[in-house]
Amino acid sequence: MVIGVLDLQGAVDEHIQMLAQCGVTGKKVLSEEGLNQVDGLIIPGGESTAIMNLLLKFDLLKPLQEKVAAGLPIFGTCAGLVLLSRSDALAGIEGKVERNGFGRQKDSFQADIDVAGFDQPFPGIFIRAPYLKQVADDVEVLAKIDDDRIIAVKHGKILATSFHPELSDDTRMHQLFLDMVSA
Ligand code: GLN
Repeated sequence: MVIGVLDLQGAVDEHIQMLAQCGVTGKKVLSEEGLNQVDGLIIPGGESTAIMNLLLKFDLLKPLQEKVAAGLPIFGTCAGLVLLSRSDALAGIEGKVERNGFGRQKDSFQADIDVAGFDQPFPGIFIRAPYLKQVADDVEVLAKIDDDRIIAVKHGKILATSFHPELSDDTRMHQLFLDMVSA
Protein backbone atom coordinates (compact mmCIF):
# COMPACT_ATOMS: atom_id res chain seq x y z
CA MET A 1 0.00 0.00 0.00
CA VAL A 2 1.34 3.43 -0.90
CA ILE A 3 -0.07 6.48 0.81
CA GLY A 4 0.58 9.89 -0.66
CA VAL A 5 1.01 13.05 1.35
CA LEU A 6 0.21 16.22 -0.56
CA ASP A 7 3.52 18.06 -0.51
CA LEU A 8 2.56 21.66 -1.19
CA GLN A 9 2.75 23.19 2.28
CA GLY A 10 2.35 22.24 5.92
CA ALA A 11 3.08 19.27 8.19
CA VAL A 12 4.15 16.81 5.47
CA ASP A 13 7.10 15.04 7.14
CA GLU A 14 5.14 14.48 10.34
CA HIS A 15 2.52 12.50 8.39
CA ILE A 16 5.22 10.48 6.63
CA GLN A 17 6.75 9.61 10.02
CA MET A 18 3.35 8.64 11.40
CA LEU A 19 2.74 6.38 8.40
CA ALA A 20 6.15 4.78 8.97
CA GLN A 21 5.12 4.09 12.57
CA CYS A 22 2.11 2.27 11.13
CA GLY A 23 4.42 0.27 8.87
CA VAL A 24 3.39 2.02 5.66
CA THR A 25 5.45 3.95 3.14
CA GLY A 26 4.40 7.54 2.66
CA LYS A 27 5.14 9.20 -0.64
CA LYS A 28 5.21 12.95 -1.19
CA VAL A 29 2.81 13.94 -3.95
CA LEU A 30 3.41 17.06 -6.01
CA SER A 31 2.01 16.21 -9.43
CA GLU A 32 -0.90 14.55 -11.16
CA GLU A 33 1.37 11.65 -12.04
CA GLY A 34 2.27 11.21 -8.38
CA LEU A 35 -1.40 11.37 -7.48
CA ASN A 36 -2.13 8.49 -9.84
CA GLN A 37 0.35 6.25 -8.04
CA VAL A 38 -1.16 6.25 -4.55
CA ASP A 39 -3.83 4.13 -2.87
CA GLY A 40 -4.79 6.93 -0.53
CA LEU A 41 -3.86 10.56 0.08
CA ILE A 42 -3.27 12.70 3.16
CA ILE A 43 -3.83 16.44 2.96
CA PRO A 44 -1.85 17.95 5.81
CA GLY A 45 -2.49 20.95 8.02
CA GLY A 46 -0.89 24.25 7.20
CA GLU A 47 -2.76 27.15 5.65
CA SER A 48 -5.71 26.25 3.46
CA THR A 49 -5.48 29.47 1.42
CA ALA A 50 -1.82 28.78 0.65
CA ILE A 51 -2.51 25.13 -0.21
CA MET A 52 -5.43 26.17 -2.41
CA ASN A 53 -3.25 28.67 -4.31
CA LEU A 54 -0.55 26.05 -4.76
CA LEU A 55 -3.10 23.47 -5.95
CA LEU A 56 -4.01 25.92 -8.70
CA LYS A 57 -0.40 26.79 -9.44
CA PHE A 58 0.61 23.12 -9.77
CA ASP A 59 -2.51 22.25 -11.80
CA LEU A 60 -3.60 19.85 -9.11
CA LEU A 61 -7.02 21.17 -8.15
CA LYS A 62 -8.96 19.52 -10.95
CA PRO A 63 -7.13 16.15 -10.77
CA LEU A 64 -7.71 16.12 -7.03
CA GLN A 65 -11.40 16.99 -7.45
CA GLU A 66 -11.63 14.07 -9.86
CA LYS A 67 -9.99 11.76 -7.32
CA VAL A 68 -12.50 12.86 -4.69
CA ALA A 69 -15.33 12.10 -7.11
CA ALA A 70 -13.77 8.74 -8.01
CA GLY A 71 -13.62 7.70 -4.34
CA LEU A 72 -9.87 7.83 -3.65
CA PRO A 73 -9.48 7.53 0.14
CA ILE A 74 -8.40 10.92 1.50
CA PHE A 75 -7.50 11.97 5.04
CA GLY A 76 -7.44 15.71 5.70
CA THR A 77 -6.12 17.26 8.89
CA CYS A 78 -6.86 20.85 9.90
CA ALA A 79 -6.31 22.89 6.70
CA GLY A 80 -6.95 19.57 4.93
CA LEU A 81 -10.41 19.45 6.54
CA VAL A 82 -11.03 23.03 5.37
CA LEU A 83 -10.15 22.12 1.77
CA LEU A 84 -12.22 18.94 1.85
CA SER A 85 -15.30 20.76 3.09
CA ARG A 86 -15.17 23.93 0.99
CA SER A 87 -17.51 23.57 -1.97
CA ASP A 88 -15.14 25.68 -4.14
CA ALA A 89 -12.18 23.47 -3.21
CA LEU A 90 -12.49 19.67 -2.94
CA ALA A 91 -16.12 19.40 -1.87
CA GLY A 92 -15.61 15.97 -0.33
CA ILE A 93 -17.60 16.67 2.82
CA GLU A 94 -20.89 18.46 2.71
CA GLY A 95 -20.93 20.85 5.65
CA LYS A 96 -20.32 24.35 6.88
CA VAL A 97 -16.76 24.97 7.97
CA GLU A 98 -15.67 27.67 10.39
CA ARG A 99 -12.01 28.46 9.75
CA ASN A 100 -9.95 29.42 12.79
CA GLY A 101 -13.09 28.53 14.74
CA PHE A 102 -11.24 28.32 18.05
CA GLY A 103 -9.32 31.58 17.60
CA ARG A 104 -5.84 32.51 16.50
CA GLN A 105 -2.43 30.93 17.06
CA LYS A 106 -2.34 31.94 20.74
CA ASP A 107 -5.58 30.05 21.27
CA SER A 108 -4.01 26.76 20.20
CA PHE A 109 -4.65 23.99 22.69
CA GLN A 110 -4.57 20.29 23.40
CA ALA A 111 -7.56 18.32 24.65
CA ASP A 112 -8.51 14.70 25.20
CA ILE A 113 -11.11 13.89 22.60
CA ASP A 114 -13.68 11.10 22.67
CA VAL A 115 -13.69 9.62 19.19
CA ALA A 116 -16.43 7.20 18.13
CA GLY A 117 -14.97 3.70 17.99
CA PHE A 118 -11.88 4.45 20.16
CA ASP A 119 -11.78 2.96 23.69
CA GLN A 120 -9.54 5.68 25.07
CA PRO A 121 -9.59 9.45 24.46
CA PHE A 122 -7.41 10.77 21.64
CA PRO A 123 -4.89 13.55 22.31
CA GLY A 124 -6.22 16.31 20.05
CA ILE A 125 -3.77 19.07 19.14
CA PHE A 126 -5.56 22.15 17.79
CA ILE A 127 -3.61 24.88 16.00
CA ARG A 128 -5.74 27.67 14.48
CA ALA A 129 -8.15 24.83 14.03
CA PRO A 130 -11.37 24.86 12.06
CA TYR A 131 -14.54 23.07 13.03
CA LEU A 132 -17.65 22.02 11.17
CA LYS A 133 -20.92 23.63 12.21
CA GLN A 134 -23.28 21.50 10.24
CA VAL A 135 -22.82 18.45 8.12
CA ALA A 136 -25.09 16.60 5.72
CA ASP A 137 -26.98 13.57 7.06
CA ASP A 138 -24.69 11.10 5.34
CA VAL A 139 -21.57 12.50 7.01
CA GLU A 140 -20.62 10.45 10.07
CA VAL A 141 -19.62 12.59 13.04
CA LEU A 142 -16.74 10.90 14.90
CA ALA A 143 -16.04 13.62 17.46
CA LYS A 144 -17.37 16.90 18.79
CA ILE A 145 -16.16 19.47 21.27
CA ASP A 146 -18.26 21.94 23.31
CA ASP A 147 -21.39 19.95 22.29
CA ASP A 148 -21.83 21.57 18.89
CA ARG A 149 -18.43 21.88 17.22
CA ILE A 150 -17.77 18.93 14.95
CA ILE A 151 -14.06 18.09 14.86
CA ALA A 152 -13.78 14.66 13.24
CA VAL A 153 -15.87 13.19 10.43
CA LYS A 154 -15.98 10.31 8.04
CA HIS A 155 -17.80 10.38 4.75
CA GLY A 156 -17.40 7.35 2.51
CA LYS A 157 -13.65 7.09 1.96
CA ILE A 158 -12.96 10.52 3.37
CA LEU A 159 -11.69 11.11 6.88
CA ALA A 160 -11.06 14.56 8.32
CA THR A 161 -10.02 16.01 11.66
CA SER A 162 -9.78 19.59 12.92
CA PHE A 163 -6.82 18.54 15.02
CA HIS A 164 -3.35 17.26 14.17
CA PRO A 165 -2.95 13.53 14.93
CA GLU A 166 0.43 13.59 13.17
CA LEU A 167 1.79 15.87 15.90
CA SER A 168 0.79 13.45 18.65
CA ASP A 169 2.33 10.05 19.29
CA ASP A 170 -1.00 8.30 18.86
CA THR A 171 -1.26 6.33 15.63
CA ARG A 172 -4.94 5.35 15.91
CA MET A 173 -6.33 8.01 13.57
CA HIS A 174 -3.82 7.12 10.86
CA GLN A 175 -4.53 3.45 11.44
CA LEU A 176 -8.25 4.14 11.01
CA PHE A 177 -7.48 5.78 7.67
CA LEU A 178 -5.27 2.86 6.60
CA ASP A 179 -8.12 0.48 7.46
CA MET A 180 -10.41 2.58 5.24
CA VAL A 181 -7.88 2.32 2.41
CA SER A 182 -7.57 -1.47 2.74
CA ALA A 183 -11.30 -2.06 3.12
N1 GLN B 1 -6.38 27.99 10.08
C1 GLN B 1 -5.76 27.26 9.02
C2 GLN B 1 -6.60 27.35 7.75
O1 GLN B 1 -7.68 27.80 7.76
C3 GLN B 1 -5.54 25.82 9.38
C4 GLN B 1 -4.53 25.70 10.47
C5 GLN B 1 -3.82 24.40 10.49
O2 GLN B 1 -3.86 23.62 9.53
N2 GLN B 1 -3.12 24.15 11.56
O3 GLN B 1 -6.14 26.91 6.74
